[in-house]
Amino acid sequence: MNGGRRHAAIIGAGLAGSLLAILLARRGWDVDVYEKRGDPRLKGYEGGRSINLALAERGRHALELAGAEGPVMRQAVMMRGRMVHFADGRVELQRYGRDDSEVIWSVHRGDLNLSLLRLADEAGAQFHFHRRLESVDFDRRDLLFADDRGDSQHGAPFEIVIGADGAGSALRAAMDAYRPLGERGDLLDHVYKELEIPPAPDGDFRMEPNALHIWPRGQYMCIALPNDEKTFTVTLFMAEKDDGSGVPSFESVATPAQARVLFERDFPDALPLIPDLEQAWAANPPGLLGSIYLERWSLDDRAVLMGDAAHAMVPFHGQGMNCAFEDCVALADALDGHTDPAAAFAAFEAERKPNASAIQKMALDNYIEMRDLVDDPGFLLQRELERVLQARHPGRFVPHYTMVTFMRIPYALALERSEIQREILERATHGLDSLEGVDWDAVDAAIEAQLPQLQDAARP
Ligand SMILES: Cc1cc2nc3c(=O)[nH]c(=O)nc-3n(C[C@H](O)[C@H](O)[C@H](O)COP(=O)(O)OP(=O)(O)OC[C@H]3O[C@@H](n4cnc5c(N)ncnc54)[C@H](O)[C@@H]3O)c2cc1C
Repeated sequence: MNGGRRHAAIIGAGLAGSLLAILLARRGWDVDVYEKRGDPRLKGYEGGRSINLALAERGRHALELAGAEGPVMRQAVMMRGRMVHFADGRVELQRYGRDDSEVIWSVHRGDLNLSLLRLADEAGAQFHFHRRLESVDFDRRDLLFADDRGDSQHGAPFEIVIGADGAGSALRAAMDAYRPLGERGDLLDHVYKELEIPPAPDGDFRMEPNALHIWPRGQYMCIALPNDEKTFTVTLFMAEKDDGSGVPSFESVATPAQARVLFERDFPDALPLIPDLEQAWAANPPGLLGSIYLERWSLDDRAVLMGDAAHAMVPFHGQGMNCAFEDCVALADALDGHTDPAAAFAAFEAERKPNASAIQKMALDNYIEMRDLVDDPGFLLQRELERVLQARHPGRFVPHYTMVTFMRIPYALALERSEIQREILERATHGLDSLEGVDWDAVDAAIEAQLPQLQDAARP
């Protein structure tokens, strides 16, 4: 303690680490943040991967509480829905919500991180760059860092240490070695590669900017998110290894020339928009995707994990950052509400762990939906019925995507209700190719019986 002030060491100045630093510093905590990379304010952002992210209500709300919503939203690009590029060349916008009050936002990871760093700095947090956590002496409460520019090492004492150091968390490894966390990692057999669509010669976007573009192709897909500098970041998700079935993989499409052949065949409308396909293909190695599950997130009153360090997930619901931002608010509240950090960590974990597990599951399920179902007639009929039921039973039948994306109800509740709703939708549309034959009495009765009115604090 410093003059009665409480002290937190945060590992990682990424998205969650810098947002948590703002929240704690504003509440009068002494905060030290240790980041392995250099200061992005001096030499530009080095993140490299997943250049833009979809920001939804949960994340926006956390940013608002930290006073960060204004600067972030000024650079965000609205996405009204999925612009589906079908294999036969048709293009169709499938709205995410009812109108423009239910949309998601594409934000640039580097710009977002810079805004959060600046605000944390202004709030009084101390940043230490070029400090890669190497090991932790939990008995002495000492952190040991390496500076990757040379071979120097630096120590720092801690009262509590918070791991916001991402999916490959070094703090998690140190905690696990000291007292096992019950860790299980599930690497997806699909990986991703990022490409870019530059602005048109007149400086404008080359496609409709206010949408998340998606090219579903069954076992693989491309997506593209707009950036405010009028570019799109294109991400191809595909199997890493070949399974001999003829479905393309990063093994069979290994060279830039093979990539061009794949795009000519499967993404012909995207190909002319990506002039640097070959160079980008060769320069960007595929990125891994996976989920991390832990039985415990904390070590008594000494250490706790949050964000990707605690519960990395696959990106197919666009919720990893949004969930990490909700963690920041919950952890700051818990630390503020309990003088004993062990009690704060326990309260945080009890609140957030079931919700993290729920969104991890929903994120995996959503991959199938995105790559395989968005052009499936049965799936589209269920979406149509979903919209009818939403209007027929307002606040009771709330579409899955709406609960996850435009509301702040716990993810676990969204999952529970989504499973009930999916059954109702499947039963009601079974064997039908239009809504004409729906047994409305049975559907209404099932909704009344199984789905109580939903309360939510999200903005109207
Ligand atoms: C392809 C892709 C697309 C995605 N799209 C979305 C999306 O649309 N919407 C969404 O909500 N989420 C999305 N996500 C998920 C999102 O990127 C993560 O959930 C989010 O970045 C988690 O934030 P974090 O702060 O926990 O971890 P990170 O952002 O990974 O930050 C960790 C920080 O810790 C630092 N660090 C790492 N190790 C050490 C160490 N040993 N010592 C010191 N510092 C260290 C890193 O340099 C980094 O700055 C996507 C992810 C991927 C891969």
